[in-house]
Amino acid sequence: MRALRLNQWKSEPVLEEVPVPEPGPGEVLVQVGAAGACHSDLHLMHEFEPGMLPYDPPFTLGHENAGWVHTVGQGVTGLEVGQPVAVVGAWGCGTCAHCAAGLETYCERPDLAPVPGGGGGLGLDGGMADYLLVPAARHVVPLPDGLEVVDAAPLTDAALTPYHAVRRSLCKLGPGSTAVVIGVGGLGHLGLQVLTALTATRIVAVDGRDSARVRASDLGADLVLEPGPETASRIREATGGCGADVVLDFVGSDETLATAAACVRQLGDITIVGIAGGTLPVSFFGVPYEVSVQTTYWGNRAELVEVLDLAGRGLLHAATTIYPLEDALAAYDDLTHGRVEGRAVVVP
Ligand code: NAD
Ligand code: ZN
Ligand code: ZN
Repeated sequence: MRALRLNQWKSEPVLEEVPVPEPGPGEVLVQVGAAGACHSDLHLMHEFEPGMLPYDPPFTLGHENAGWVHTVGQGVTGLEVGQPVAVVGAWGCGTCAHCAAGLETYCERPDLAPVPGGGGGLGLDGGMADYLLVPAARHVVPLPDGLEVVDAAPLTDAALTPYHAVRRSLCKLGPGSTAVVIGVGGLGHLGLQVLTALTATRIVAVDGRDSARVRASDLGADLVLEPGPETASRIREATGGCGADVVLDFVGSDETLATAAACVRQLGDITIVGIAGGTLPVSFFGVPYEVSVQTTYWGNRAELVEVLDLAGRGLLHAATTIYPLEDALAAYDDLTHGRVEGRAVVVP
């Protein structure tokens, strides 16, 4: 089968022929229907060096996957061949306290996990291939009726990650509140829809791309701004001087974090989702009183079930730009240069 392999750090991935994996006991082989191209893959290709992550190449890229159950290993029950499924991306040990609570993103026994701190496309072979070997049946979630695999794949990260982040701040997003979404790309355009689906908050969207700002308006953002020196003061003005209750930063650069700190309200949340590598100095008078600064990483199975339910009911929809697997490198090139509308999705 074909697979888009990252063979070493700081290299371009290569489309290669590899053997089709055979599912062992408890495993599921998924015929890939679609795999999203995440900005994190660009960080993987260009920024990491040996020792920075708990795993190393080679592995097949693609951590946002959906497809159809192809074959199941011994002991797997409750799945039918041909059934459309989305794949939960973070693969923990399954038994530590966090995994038992469903938080496999934060597995505390990485030594017992299929890959420490990762999953398919992050240390183990992912879905930019014809088939994806999933190490446990609990990592596949049946799709609700009517949800196509190409629409489901991006939801497993680009919607699940903002969903997890928004849920963490739900108590601050009541009527009269304001949320800021910085970066309306793959994650951000779904983050905006998550806010609309789950809360009554007013939404401010910030992005430097014209097309992303148009999308934010179309998706119902109340105020759409270009990033710049005036952004934070515009947000303060729009909130009667108070600031935003929750700032979701889907970029995470020095510049966006400074904007977040300058526009957040007392008691508010700054949630750093983007991994552009910026820093936010936090000190007593450096951020407004009782502001919480948090990072979030991906989301869990139970949340993915909820995300898929929202999508099945038409409350979340990933805007997608589709590329055949042979053109996966073009998808990443477009992502690098800000040319992707919504999420780039690779179809084998
Ligand atoms: P993307 O390229 O699809 O979207 C990024 C958006 O941010 C683009 O629309 C771009 O125009 C905009 N942008 C860039 N610089 C900006 C600035 N200074 N101000 C305002 N907008 C700006 O990327 P994506 O796939 O949505 O990923 C976003 C980030 O989230 C990446 O850093 C990615 O690695 C990270 N990520 C984190 C997690 C997690 O679990 N924490 C999960 C997935 C992705
Ligand atoms: Zn990702
Ligand atoms: Zn664990």
